[in-house]
Amino acid sequence: MDLFEYQARDLFEKHGVPVLGGAVAETPEQARAAAERLLPEGGGRVVVKAQVKTGGRGKAGGVKLASSADEAEQVSGQILGMDLKGHTVHRVMIAPAAAIDAEYYFSVLLDRANRTYLAMASREGGMEIEQLAVEKPEALARIPVDALTGIDEAKAREITAAGGFPEGIADQVVAAVQRLWDVFVKEDATLVEVNPLVRTADGRVVALDGKVTLDGNADFRQAEHAGLEDEASADPLEARAKAKGLNYVKLDGEVGIIGNGAGLVMSTLDVVAYAGEAHGGVKPANFLDIGGGASAEVMADGLEIVLGDPSVRSVFVNVFGGITSCDAVANGIVSALEMLKGRGENVAKPLVVRLDGNNAEEGRRILDEAEHDVVEMVDTMDGAAERAAQLAAT
Ligand code: GDP
Ligand code: MN
Repeated sequence: MDLFEYQARDLFEKHGVPVLGGAVAETPEQARAAAERLLPEGGGRVVVKAQVKTGGRGKAGGVKLASSADEAEQVSGQILGMDLKGHTVHRVMIAPAAAIDAEYYFSVLLDRANRTYLAMASREGGMEIEQLAVEKPEALARIPVDALTGIDEAKAREITAAGGFPEGIADQVVAAVQRLWDVFVKEDATLVEVNPLVRTADGRVVALDGKVTLDGNADFRQAEHAGLEDEASADPLEARAKAKGLNYVKLDGEVGIIGNGAGLVMSTLDVVAYAGEAHGGVKPANFLDIGGGASAEVMADGLEIVLGDPSVRSVFVNVFGGITSCDAVANGIVSALEMLKGRGENVAKPLVVRLDGNNAEEGRRILDEAEHDVVEMVDTMDGAAERAAQLAAT
C-alpha cells in the first residue's frame, strides 16, 4: 500500500525523522485555519500541497506557496478538485514553508532482483528519480544494505559519503538516514523515499516530501496500518473482493480470469495476453485466485465479482484439479451459476472453462449435463485462452 505524503510525514515524525509541521485540509476554510496556525513556523509563508499518490505534483501545479491565510485559502481552492495525472485531489497538506538552500535525495527499498535492500542517495534532489537515473546516473549512489546489519551508524556514514552530501551537514544526514531505516524496518515498508531531503537556510536537514510503501503481508503485525487505507479511492471491485476474502486484482483488459492457485492464474494471464494479440489486443481483465478449496460459494463470489466488471466481455475459468478434484469444481460452477441466478444476477457473458487434472473427465461430464448455454468447455489451456480472447473481441 502506497501512503499519502501526509501519512508518510506522520510516520517520519513518529520515528524521529526531522520534518516540518503539517495539517490536512479537505476544504479551503480548513486550509485557512491550518495556515493561520502554521504561518509563524514558516516565517510568514506556508506551502499548500495536493495529496495524491503520484509524483511530480510540483511541476503539475499541485504544490504552491502562500504568504497569508487568505492566499492559502484561495490556493487550496484551486488545488482541491484538481486532476493530477488522473488522480483527483480530495485533500491538501498545509505545511510551513521551508527556506530551501539545497535539495537532496535519499531512499531505501527492497531490491527484489538482487535479494537485498538498497539505499540510494544523491546530492541532486528535487527532480524525479527516474529522470535523475537516466540523465545523471553518476550522481545517484546505490548502496546495498544487508538485511541482518541494516543501516547502523557506519552504514549511514557510507551512504552519506557515497551520496556526496556536504561535510557541514553529514552528521545530520547520518542521523536522519538511521531514523529513516527505523521507519523502513519498524513499519514493514518496502520503500521509504525522501525527495527532497533539504538543507534549510539556517543549516537544518529536513525531510520535505516523503513516499512510503507498506508491505501488506505484514498487516497481521501492524494493526495501526489498517487506518491508513484510503477507502475512498480504492477500486470498488477490489474492495468487494477483499470483503469476501478473495485474492483479486483489477486489470484493464476484457477477459475475466478465474483460476485455482496463484501460479496457475499468473500463467493464465500470460497465455490470455498472448492469445489476445491476434484478437485486436484484448487483455486479461483481472487476477483472481480462488485457491485450492474452490467451493461453490467461493466460485459464486468469484464469478459475481468478475462478471460485475463492466469491461469484462468473456470469462476464462482455468482449473487444475489437485487435492480438490475437478468434479467438485464442476459442481461448484454449476451451483455458482444457480446461486447467481438466485441472487438476481444476469449471467449472460460467455464462460470458457478448462478442467484438467484430478477427475477432469467426471468434471466435464457434470458441466455437459448441466447444459448451461453460457458455458463452453475447451480441453487445453492455450485453446481455452484463444477461445476466451476470441469471444471477448466479438
Ligand atoms: P513532488 O513534486 O510531488 O515530488 O512534490 P514535492 O513535495 O517534492 O515538491 C516539489 C518541489 O516544490 C520541491 O522540490 C521544492 O522545490 C518545492 N517545495 C516543496 N515544499 C517547499 C517549501 O516548503 N518551500 C519551498 N521554497 N519550496 C518547496
Ligand atoms: Mn518530491
